Amino acid sequence: MDCPNAREEEEESEFLKQLKAEVLGLLGEEQSVAGASLVRVPLGGLPFTPILESLLDALGIKGTFASFEPLVKSCHDLSWVLKIPPPTPPGPGPGRWGVGAGSGYCPSQPLPPSLGGKVQGKIYECFSRSEKCSDFAQAMSQKLVVTLGEETSRSLRVPANWVAALTEVLRKVRPHTASCVFKSLIGGWTTSARMHEQIRLTCIFGCREQPDEIGHYFLCSPLWQIASQSLQVEAPLALAQRLCIEKPTPETARLLALVFSLYHFSKNRAKELGGATSVGPNAVQRIAFEAARALKITFN
Ligand SMILES: [Zn+2]
Repeated sequence: MDCPNAREEEEESEFLKQLKAEVLGLLGEEQSVAGASLVRVPLGGLPFTPILESLLDALGIKGTFASFEPLVKSCHDLSWVLKIPPPTPPGPGPGRWGVGAGSGYCPSQPLPPSLGGKVQGKIYECFSRSEKCSDFAQAMSQKLVVTLGEETSRSLRVPANWVAALTEVLRKVRPHTASCVFKSLIGGWTTSARMHEQIRLTCIFGCREQPDEIGHYFLCSPLWQIASQSLQVEAPLALAQRLCIEKPTPETARLLALVFSLYHFSKNRAKELGGATSVGPNAVQRIAFEAARALKITFN
């Protein structure tokens, strides 16, 4: 018995292998020793595995996909994924994938009932296990330590259930607002310090001798003043409240989200105009002030 799905996969695999052979043939004597030893398509000036190699790796669950093998093995329902045998020459005899073909599992055969016919969904569920936090609250606290730095983290007091309380509040605001708050807590600001930019800026809003770092912007007076004026709310003085760690409310979540957006918008706009240093802090503040009028609508 022949299997259309397996045949398709095999044809694709054969086509990719032929393509690779052609590519390596074209290289001729230009192939490096390192490349030749690995029998791999060389990097094309980009720091990524060539697409052709990635596709072949995916089919063979090798290379960057090798880590999926134990995951697939750990999912009882998916063990058949690894049982697809290597291609055999065509000829008479029992089908390669069907009954009598040995170890092969043919996807056209009845799938394990527990899969419920949802192969892609099950594979996604299996692979996404490695990306899930076993303890989200603890992972958030650990990320926050990195964001704030050791010194601030030691002095900042947080309620025991702060992640649960925050999650509850974030359910009441727009997903974009929640995403900006989340990015702030995990340190997802593109400051010059974080992005390892060659020119380390100082606060783009003009605070003297303050670095272009997230830790400063959580306290930056001009930035928080522009955001709070725009939303017509009072900015909390306590850092824990600004970060929605303590007594979070939809208002403080929106304020932090606006602060996050204002920083990134202003910095990018200043970059278009020649950079924050040449534009100057007064102009950057004006950019932020104007932007706040438009951006606040996206958080309401
Ligand atoms: Zn500042």
